[in-house]
Amino acid sequence: MMPREEMYIGKKTYQIKEEDYQRFPVVRQAFVKVSTEDIGEINYLGFLDKMHKNMARRMQEGDPGYSQKDNALDMGANALNLTLGTYGFPNSQFLSWNPLYVPPFLSANKVEETPENHTHGVKEAAAFYGADLAGIAKLDERWVYSQDMVKPFVFDEEGVPCESEKAFHIPKSMNRAIVMAFLMDGELQTKSPKLPASTATSLGYSRMAIATVSLAEYIRALGYQAIPCMNDTALSIPLAVDAGLGQLGRHGLLITPEYGSNVRLCKVLTDMPLVEDQPIDFGITTFCENCLLCANECPSGAISSHERTTESEESTGNSGVLKWYIKGEHCLKYWQANGASCANCIAVCPFTYGYESEHCAECERCEAFMRGCPLQSNTFFRKKHGYLEDTPWASKSKIPPTKRRGL
Ligand code: SF4
Ligand code: SF4
Repeated sequence: MMPREEMYIGKKTYQIKEEDYQRFPVVRQAFVKVSTEDIGEINYLGFLDKMHKNMARRMQEGDPGYSQKDNALDMGANALNLTLGTYGFPNSQFLSWNPLYVPPFLSANKVEETPENHTHGVKEAAAFYGADLAGIAKLDERWVYSQDMVKPFVFDEEGVPCESEKAFHIPKSMNRAIVMAFLMDGELQTKSPKLPASTATSLGYSRMAIATVSLAEYIRALGYQAIPCMNDTALSIPLAVDAGLGQLGRHGLLITPEYGSNVRLCKVLTDMPLVEDQPIDFGITTFCENCLLCANECPSGAISSHERTTESEESTGNSGVLKWYIKGEHCLKYWQANGASCANCIAVCPFTYGYESEHCAECERCEAFMRGCPLQSNTFFRKKHGYLEDTPWASKSKIPPTKRRGL
């Protein structure tokens, strides 16, 4: 990871209107809302039916980027994602809240080390299991879902993480979140909204499934509790912001200094004593105020071109946080009509690839430039630390192959 000290501002990078904010229930997510409308019962993946039918139609019509070979590559990339955890369901399959294979007699002894040593060990293990970035956040209970499809998440004064008939129980001692980010394939993303961009997403999910399951088991083998999560249980983006991995962009996604938004996120909740990281600010909010690329290139009109607000226009957004709200249903219904998920907002965001001179041609009105352009300074840091290759003036930035340390 690039050093972050210069980006620390000593406070949170978001504002919450406490009187309006409430923990968010999974049932209000766009995925659940559209799926439930489509199939008439509460469901997470029902929206896929329409999407797959349109994919099949485009396949038959011979649309480039929607071939059976494109789909085959996607299916392979998605295999581990779908095997390791039931998508969107906490405590399912390998995402179990109990140890998978660690025998109790091998983990009864809790390894006692300083929080600094544990933090170093956890981040090394995360990299070994395939994470490209890892940070530690103090678990802010406001980011934990109020309930999943049917049951609430409750915080207990003591005990172990478990599921009863009535609720998911998280002990208050589990007050740390290890948040991991996984770089997706940049070349495939540029094909959005065609199927290859979905494949970049699918592989990101499979890689994060391996890492979250593996890191949770590592922590349990050291004698501590761990809850491995993908998109379930808690909101990944605010936790990633708290863990100092990046900032929230206009498109509703995390922007990291190293890879822009071209990452997927997962997290492990734990009671292991870990040193929390600090939030960072590298100028994203000001830049997004002036840049509208993602809003202009969004085929569904889901991205706001207005000022930030604390009120979501749709029930799928959770009012109370000052930000640009996404119209999740618009986005998902476009995926259905398109026959594949879309990633235009990631593909066009200049932080995904770094500074290119033509961005500035579009940004004559940019006020951020007057105060020092965050995109240019971030590109400079990415080059300095090997996250972008030096390319001749006015040519497209190159992302070098990632030097993965693990799986
Ligand atoms: S994924 Fe596509 S449709 Fe959805 S918000 Fe991004 S650009 Fe818009
Ligand atoms: S495309 Fe521009 S406005 Fe959208 S998230 Fe990226 S920097 Fe912000």
